[in-house]
Amino acid sequence: MSEINMKEISAKVLEAGVVGAGGAGFPTHVKLSAQAEIVIVNAAECEPLLKTDQQLIAQSPELLLKGLTLAMESTGAQKGIIAVKAKYKKAIAALEPLITNRDNLEIVLIPDIYPAGDEVITIWLTTGTRVPPGGIPLNIGVVVNNVQTLINVAKAMDGTPVTTRTLTVTGAVENPVTVTVPIGTSLQEVLELAEVGSGDLAFIQGGPMMGTLITDLSAPVTKTTGGLIALPKDHMLIQRKLRTIESILRIAKTVCEQCSFCTELCPRHIIGHELSPHRLIRAVNYKNLGDPSLITSVLSCSECGVCEAYACPVGISPLRVNMALKAELRSKGIKYQGQLGQEDPLAKNRLIPSSRLIDRLRLRPWYKEAPLSLDVYEPDEVTLKLHQHIGAPSAPLVKVGDVVRLGQLIGEIPEGGLGAKVHASIEGTVVQLTPQTIRIRKGGAAK
Ligand code: SF4
Ligand code: SF4
Repeated sequence: MSEINMKEISAKVLEAGVVGAGGAGFPTHVKLSAQAEIVIVNAAECEPLLKTDQQLIAQSPELLLKGLTLAMESTGAQKGIIAVKAKYKKAIAALEPLITNRDNLEIVLIPDIYPAGDEVITIWLTTGTRVPPGGIPLNIGVVVNNVQTLINVAKAMDGTPVTTRTLTVTGAVENPVTVTVPIGTSLQEVLELAEVGSGDLAFIQGGPMMGTLITDLSAPVTKTTGGLIALPKDHMLIQRKLRTIESILRIAKTVCEQCSFCTELCPRHIIGHELSPHRLIRAVNYKNLGDPSLITSVLSCSECGVCEAYACPVGISPLRVNMALKAELRSKGIKYQGQLGQEDPLAKNRLIPSSRLIDRLRLRPWYKEAPLSLDVYEPDEVTLKLHQHIGAPSAPLVKVGDVVRLGQLIGEIPEGGLGAKVHASIEGTVVQLTPQTIRIRKGGAAK
């Protein structure tokens, strides 16, 4: 592939506003502008209850492979790996016949464990190589992309921008379902597609382990909304997410017995990262913040939640303590780069079987299929955030009263900044503009 074509791929991905669909929304055109040896499709989908990627692969294997091939061409990678759980049999059956003559592509089956989808762990499970603490996959020549990201990359080649998001809506609902909705659809409307009950419920955005509590159901779906989960308000996951950092610190101080289970099961620690949650808890409890390397190692915490939800026998949340520490260090601009240590010889045995995690999280009653609906939902109104990605918010290109067509560019990356473009996800009229959002209502003839 010539350099100009490599540049064309990332240019089209930039135009389409593609961002990492599986995480914080890193702009994909930047990732695809790097040079790499391996591109990995992260199809582990390891958060319990979420059923999106496995079904998208079974439905659109050609698009996924096209996206993977483009990512390989753009980065110069000689090898493409699809990291998929062995239990996603329909996805594997759809992919296998399409790669039989492709020597540079491989499906690597990974066990049903958590957190197989943490990209550092995905790389380790599929290639045996380890990302250094505080580093990124590119440090070892790897680029990792999520399934929806690569499907969006494939669509970008014919000029189709990112205007929809596919997500699982499940939990305490009548009709668990995986739906595709225009970006900007309200979370309340999406929950109604799964016939959410009227009981005393609370809602999580994302997966049960890494998702966040929803405080406003009128908030919109974004390019990174991973799932919606309804649970009874008194469910342990909801109660845990409601705890304040003050109460977490108080519990940590009074009951941490320094058993070190949190460290022994920490996925980053067992592959040789310095991160040791029990030592961090001790340092915070005794205000012994003098070891700078120990404290800054918290920046390599993936926030997978294993220490909180599975390891700690007395209900402490090293995760939340870490999140608070990370926020403080980042606000001071502190960075961390550590050395790889020894890998735990029992590391692979220490990762958590999903089935055990589901029981521990008391999610078994809601562990159900969530079939993929082929229709795209049509809301009357959408609210598009100008900041759905890592980097600077987009600058609006429209004003109230403008009539926009589906896919029209309405938010531009500020000059010289890192960011992603925003496109109209329905056809209609701009009815409200705030510094953070553009609201579009159906109606009005498109130009
Ligand atoms: S959340 Fe806990 S278990 Fe997960 S990486 Fe961070 S310290 Fe380790
Ligand atoms: S598992 Fe819990 S009690 Fe044990 S060291 Fe970690 S935080 Fe303390």
